[in-house]
Amino acid sequence: MARQFDVLEHRSPNHGPRQGGGPIDILLLHYTGMQSAEGALKWLCDSRSRVSSHYLVFEDGRIFRLVDEARRAHHAGVSVWAGETDINSRSIGIEVVNPGHEFGYRPFPEAQIDAVIGLSLDILGRHPIPPERVLAHSDVAPLRKQDPGELFPWGCLHDQGVGHYVPPAPVRDGLSLSRGARGPDVARLRNRFRQYGYGLGDAYEFDAEMAAVVTAFQRHFRPELVDGVLDRSTEVTLNRLLATLEK
Ligand SMILES: [Zn+2]
Repeated sequence: MARQFDVLEHRSPNHGPRQGGGPIDILLLHYTGMQSAEGALKWLCDSRSRVSSHYLVFEDGRIFRLVDEARRAHHAGVSVWAGETDINSRSIGIEVVNPGHEFGYRPFPEAQIDAVIGLSLDILGRHPIPPERVLAHSDVAPLRKQDPGELFPWGCLHDQGVGHYVPPAPVRDGLSLSRGARGPDVARLRNRFRQYGYGLGDAYEFDAEMAAVVTAFQRHFRPELVDGVLDRSTEVTLNRLLATLEK
């Protein structure tokens, strides 16, 4: 059920025409990663920053519209998902106020998450965005980005009909692959991540790129332990997600 919410207008000049003619079929969530909400609002609306998003959600739940959904906002940067590299042209971006890992990462208040859910449901009702394309910035740019991070309550969003999620498999000791490992198992698992959408090239090595993808995956889907090590729980959680898509 879409709930009622108000949207405040605060326009950013940082946008352009969407390119490529594809549908708007990704919803991308961020944290602001700045010391204050007011600072983030100013920055996203300053022509010198060249960055923006469609929406900005304060910790008290206030929602600001910065860029019309029809326009291409500048929030994803260099990114890739399921082979698509112009994520900005295909997505709607929501910036969620939080100081982030650099300035004191903290839990997202309930009022803020309620607002994000209400806004997301509204967006999902107007665009052909499947659940598995509601993504974290870190999913599409794992080597550069950590946002919105492991405190973002993806399971809670999923309970309300936003995004793709399965209960993560419990973290236990067991066989694991980590940085430097090589062989056909590594190649097979890289392929599984790529199947899900992550931008990960073919290789037999567990390299820095793969460690970044595993870390991004854990932040989103197995937040209890974010260490970039491909343990049994991470693999099982990935397989469960893929299985729900294959049905
Ligand atoms: Zn971001």
